[in-house]
Amino acid sequence: MGPVVEFDEVGMRYAGGTPVLDGASFVLEAGEFAFLTGPSGAGKTTLIRLVMMATRPTSGTVALFGRDTAAVAGDDLTDLRRRMGVVFQDFRLLDHLTTYENVALPLRVRGREEASYRPEVRDLLQWVGLGDRMDARPPVLSGGEKQRAAIARAVITRPDLVLADEPTGNVDPPLARRLLRLFVELNRMGTSVLVATHDEGLMDQVDAARLHLRDGLIRAG
Ligand code: ADP
Repeated sequence: MGPVVEFDEVGMRYAGGTPVLDGASFVLEAGEFAFLTGPSGAGKTTLIRLVMMATRPTSGTVALFGRDTAAVAGDDLTDLRRRMGVVFQDFRLLDHLTTYENVALPLRVRGREEASYRPEVRDLLQWVGLGDRMDARPPVLSGGEKQRAAIARAVITRPDLVLADEPTGNVDPPLARRLLRLFVELNRMGTSVLVATHDEGLMDQVDAARLHLRDGLIRAG
Protein backbone atom coordinates (compact mmCIF):
# COMPACT_ATOMS: atom_id res chain seq x y z
CA MET A 1 0.00 0.00 0.00
CA GLY A 2 1.32 3.43 -0.94
CA PRO A 3 0.89 6.72 0.85
CA VAL A 4 -2.59 7.95 1.69
CA VAL A 5 -1.55 11.58 1.43
CA GLU A 6 1.47 12.92 -0.40
CA PHE A 7 2.32 16.62 -0.69
CA ASP A 8 5.12 17.42 -3.11
CA GLU A 9 6.45 20.98 -2.98
CA VAL A 10 3.00 22.38 -2.33
CA GLY A 11 2.52 26.13 -2.49
CA MET A 12 -0.71 27.78 -1.36
CA ARG A 13 -1.52 31.45 -1.34
CA TYR A 14 -4.88 33.17 -0.86
CA ALA A 15 -5.68 36.04 -3.23
CA GLY A 16 -3.77 39.12 -2.16
CA GLY A 17 -2.00 37.33 0.69
CA THR A 18 1.48 36.06 1.35
CA PRO A 19 2.07 32.33 0.77
CA VAL A 20 0.66 30.10 3.52
CA LEU A 21 2.44 27.03 2.20
CA ASP A 22 5.66 27.49 0.29
CA GLY A 23 7.17 24.24 -0.93
CA ALA A 24 5.61 21.96 1.69
CA SER A 25 6.24 18.24 1.30
CA PHE A 26 5.17 15.33 3.49
CA VAL A 27 3.83 11.82 3.29
CA LEU A 28 1.16 10.14 5.41
CA GLU A 29 1.51 6.42 4.93
CA ALA A 30 -1.44 4.02 4.97
CA GLY A 31 -2.22 3.16 8.58
CA GLU A 32 -0.16 6.03 9.99
CA PHE A 33 -1.25 8.39 12.79
CA ALA A 34 0.25 11.87 12.58
CA PHE A 35 -0.26 15.15 14.38
CA LEU A 36 -0.04 18.37 12.44
CA THR A 37 1.30 21.11 14.67
CA GLY A 38 2.30 24.71 14.33
CA PRO A 39 1.43 28.14 15.70
CA SER A 40 -1.94 29.74 15.06
CA GLY A 41 -2.02 31.04 11.49
CA ALA A 42 0.72 28.65 10.33
CA GLY A 43 -1.65 27.03 7.83
CA LYS A 44 -2.96 23.87 9.54
CA THR A 45 -6.56 24.45 8.48
CA THR A 46 -5.40 25.34 4.98
CA LEU A 47 -3.45 22.09 4.75
CA ILE A 48 -6.48 20.09 5.89
CA ARG A 49 -8.65 21.88 3.31
CA LEU A 50 -6.13 20.90 0.63
CA VAL A 51 -6.26 17.25 1.72
CA MET A 52 -10.06 17.22 1.65
CA MET A 53 -9.97 18.87 -1.77
CA ALA A 54 -11.94 21.90 -0.59
CA THR A 55 -9.27 24.02 -2.23
CA ARG A 56 -6.48 23.49 -4.74
CA PRO A 57 -2.80 24.24 -4.34
CA THR A 58 -1.30 27.24 -6.12
CA SER A 59 1.69 25.08 -7.05
CA GLY A 60 3.02 21.59 -6.45
CA THR A 61 1.13 18.33 -6.16
CA VAL A 62 -1.37 16.95 -3.67
CA ALA A 63 -1.88 13.21 -4.14
CA LEU A 64 -4.50 11.18 -2.29
CA PHE A 65 -4.57 7.39 -2.23
CA GLY A 66 -1.95 7.49 -4.98
CA ARG A 67 -3.85 9.84 -7.24
CA ASP A 68 -2.90 13.39 -8.22
CA THR A 69 -5.92 15.41 -7.08
CA ALA A 70 -5.44 17.86 -9.97
CA ALA A 71 -6.45 15.05 -12.33
CA VAL A 72 -9.54 13.89 -10.42
CA ALA A 73 -13.05 15.08 -11.27
CA GLY A 74 -16.71 14.09 -11.18
CA ASP A 75 -17.63 10.76 -9.63
CA ASP A 76 -13.96 10.00 -8.89
CA LEU A 77 -13.82 13.12 -6.75
CA THR A 78 -16.92 11.99 -4.83
CA ASP A 79 -15.40 8.53 -4.36
CA LEU A 80 -12.14 9.98 -3.02
CA ARG A 81 -13.99 12.34 -0.68
CA ARG A 82 -16.07 9.44 0.64
CA ARG A 83 -12.92 7.66 1.74
CA MET A 84 -12.31 10.53 4.18
CA GLY A 85 -14.02 11.57 7.39
CA VAL A 86 -13.47 15.18 8.41
CA VAL A 87 -13.93 16.84 11.80
CA PHE A 88 -14.23 20.55 11.13
CA GLN A 89 -13.13 23.15 13.62
CA ASP A 90 -16.60 24.76 13.42
CA PHE A 91 -18.36 21.34 13.47
CA ARG A 92 -20.71 22.05 10.53
CA LEU A 93 -23.63 20.15 11.96
CA LEU A 94 -27.03 20.66 10.34
CA ASP A 95 -29.23 22.55 12.79
CA HIS A 96 -32.54 21.16 11.52
CA LEU A 97 -31.47 17.54 12.07
CA THR A 98 -31.21 15.77 15.42
CA THR A 99 -27.83 14.61 16.70
CA TYR A 100 -28.73 11.08 15.66
CA GLU A 101 -29.70 12.24 12.17
CA ASN A 102 -26.53 14.31 11.80
CA VAL A 103 -24.34 11.34 12.65
CA ALA A 104 -26.38 8.99 10.42
CA LEU A 105 -26.30 11.38 7.46
CA PRO A 106 -23.13 10.03 5.77
CA LEU A 107 -24.70 6.55 5.81
CA ARG A 108 -27.99 7.85 4.48
CA VAL A 109 -26.36 9.63 1.55
CA ARG A 110 -24.63 6.36 0.70
CA GLY A 111 -28.05 4.81 0.31
CA ARG A 112 -28.10 2.65 3.46
CA GLU A 113 -31.43 1.74 5.02
CA GLU A 114 -32.10 3.25 8.44
CA ALA A 115 -32.84 -0.15 9.98
CA SER A 116 -29.40 -1.40 8.91
CA TYR A 117 -27.42 1.39 10.54
CA ARG A 118 -29.54 2.37 13.56
CA PRO A 119 -27.64 0.13 16.04
CA GLU A 120 -24.20 1.31 14.93
CA VAL A 121 -25.17 5.00 15.07
CA ARG A 122 -26.67 4.49 18.55
CA ASP A 123 -23.60 2.58 19.75
CA LEU A 124 -21.21 5.25 18.54
CA LEU A 125 -23.32 8.01 20.10
CA GLN A 126 -23.26 6.11 23.40
CA TRP A 127 -19.51 5.73 23.10
CA VAL A 128 -18.89 9.45 22.63
CA GLY A 129 -21.22 10.17 25.55
CA LEU A 130 -24.19 11.47 23.60
CA GLY A 131 -26.54 8.60 24.34
CA ASP A 132 -29.00 10.92 26.05
CA ARG A 133 -28.69 13.69 23.44
CA MET A 134 -29.63 11.73 20.31
CA ASP A 135 -32.89 13.58 19.79
CA ALA A 136 -31.50 17.04 20.56
CA ARG A 137 -30.71 19.41 17.73
CA PRO A 138 -27.34 21.19 17.50
CA PRO A 139 -28.57 24.64 18.64
CA VAL A 140 -29.21 23.25 22.14
CA LEU A 141 -25.97 21.26 22.37
CA SER A 142 -22.95 22.58 24.26
CA GLY A 143 -19.69 23.18 22.38
CA GLY A 144 -18.27 19.90 23.65
CA GLU A 145 -21.39 17.99 22.66
CA LYS A 146 -21.29 19.45 19.16
CA GLN A 147 -17.67 18.45 18.90
CA ARG A 148 -18.45 14.87 19.89
CA ALA A 149 -21.29 14.75 17.38
CA ALA A 150 -18.96 16.07 14.68
CA ILE A 151 -16.38 13.39 15.52
CA ALA A 152 -19.04 10.65 15.47
CA ARG A 153 -20.26 11.82 12.07
CA ALA A 154 -16.71 11.81 10.70
CA VAL A 155 -15.99 8.25 11.77
CA ILE A 156 -19.38 6.52 11.35
CA THR A 157 -18.48 5.33 7.82
CA ARG A 158 -15.14 3.90 9.01
CA PRO A 159 -13.25 5.98 6.49
CA ASP A 160 -9.76 5.12 5.22
CA LEU A 161 -8.54 8.54 6.35
CA VAL A 162 -9.74 10.74 9.21
CA LEU A 163 -8.82 14.41 9.22
CA ALA A 164 -9.48 16.46 12.31
CA ASP A 165 -8.88 20.15 12.90
CA GLU A 166 -8.40 20.81 16.64
CA PRO A 167 -10.89 18.04 17.47
CA THR A 168 -10.57 18.43 21.21
CA GLY A 169 -10.47 22.22 21.42
CA ASN A 170 -13.79 22.60 23.24
CA VAL A 171 -13.72 19.77 25.75
CA ASP A 172 -12.09 19.26 29.12
CA PRO A 173 -8.88 17.20 29.36
CA PRO A 174 -10.48 13.88 30.46
CA LEU A 175 -12.92 14.00 27.56
CA ALA A 176 -10.15 15.09 25.18
CA ARG A 177 -8.22 11.94 26.15
CA ARG A 178 -11.30 9.81 25.58
CA LEU A 179 -11.92 11.32 22.14
CA LEU A 180 -8.27 10.86 21.27
CA ARG A 181 -8.65 7.19 22.19
CA LEU A 182 -11.40 6.91 19.59
CA PHE A 183 -8.95 8.08 16.94
CA VAL A 184 -6.31 5.69 18.27
CA GLU A 185 -8.75 2.76 18.13
CA LEU A 186 -9.74 3.62 14.59
CA ASN A 187 -6.08 3.81 13.70
CA ARG A 188 -5.49 0.35 15.19
CA MET A 189 -8.17 -0.95 12.84
CA GLY A 190 -6.25 0.47 9.90
CA THR A 191 -7.58 4.00 9.46
CA SER A 192 -4.98 6.65 8.71
CA VAL A 193 -5.34 9.68 10.96
CA LEU A 194 -4.18 13.27 10.66
CA VAL A 195 -4.99 15.51 13.63
CA ALA A 196 -4.19 19.22 13.61
CA THR A 197 -3.61 20.48 17.13
CA HIS A 198 -1.38 22.73 19.16
CA ASP A 199 -2.18 20.84 22.36
CA GLU A 200 1.14 19.39 23.53
CA GLY A 201 -0.57 17.50 26.37
CA LEU A 202 -2.72 15.69 23.87
CA MET A 203 0.19 14.81 21.60
CA ASP A 204 2.18 13.37 24.48
CA GLN A 205 -0.48 10.69 24.92
CA VAL A 206 0.02 9.03 21.56
CA ASP A 207 3.15 7.67 20.02
CA ALA A 208 2.51 9.33 16.68
CA ALA A 209 4.49 11.18 14.04
CA ARG A 210 4.54 14.98 14.30
CA LEU A 211 4.51 17.22 11.29
CA HIS A 212 5.53 20.75 12.22
CA LEU A 213 4.21 23.52 10.01
CA ARG A 214 6.21 26.72 10.06
CA ASP A 215 7.10 29.40 7.53
CA GLY A 216 5.19 27.52 4.85
CA LEU A 217 7.25 24.37 5.23
CA ILE A 218 6.65 21.03 6.93
CA ARG A 219 9.29 19.50 9.10
CA ALA A 220 8.88 15.99 10.45
CA GLY A 221 10.00 15.28 13.99
P1 ADP B 1 -4.00 27.67 11.26
O1 ADP B 1 -5.06 26.64 11.04
O2 ADP B 1 -2.63 27.07 11.46
O3 ADP B 1 -4.33 28.65 12.34
P2 ADP B 1 -4.91 28.79 8.72
O4 ADP B 1 -4.73 27.79 7.65
O5 ADP B 1 -6.29 28.98 9.26
O6 ADP B 1 -3.85 28.53 9.89
O7 ADP B 1 -4.44 30.21 8.17
C1 ADP B 1 -3.16 30.41 7.57
C2 ADP B 1 -3.09 31.83 7.02
O8 ADP B 1 -3.98 31.96 5.89
C3 ADP B 1 -3.51 32.90 8.01
O9 ADP B 1 -2.67 34.01 7.81
C4 ADP B 1 -4.92 33.22 7.59
O10 ADP B 1 -5.24 34.55 7.90
C5 ADP B 1 -4.90 33.00 6.10
N1 ADP B 1 -6.20 32.54 5.56
C6 ADP B 1 -6.87 31.43 5.96
N2 ADP B 1 -8.00 31.27 5.25
C7 ADP B 1 -8.06 32.32 4.38
C8 ADP B 1 -8.99 32.72 3.37
N3 ADP B 1 -10.08 32.01 3.11
N4 ADP B 1 -8.70 33.85 2.67
C9 ADP B 1 -7.58 34.57 2.93
N5 ADP B 1 -6.66 34.23 3.85
C10 ADP B 1 -6.89 33.13 4.59
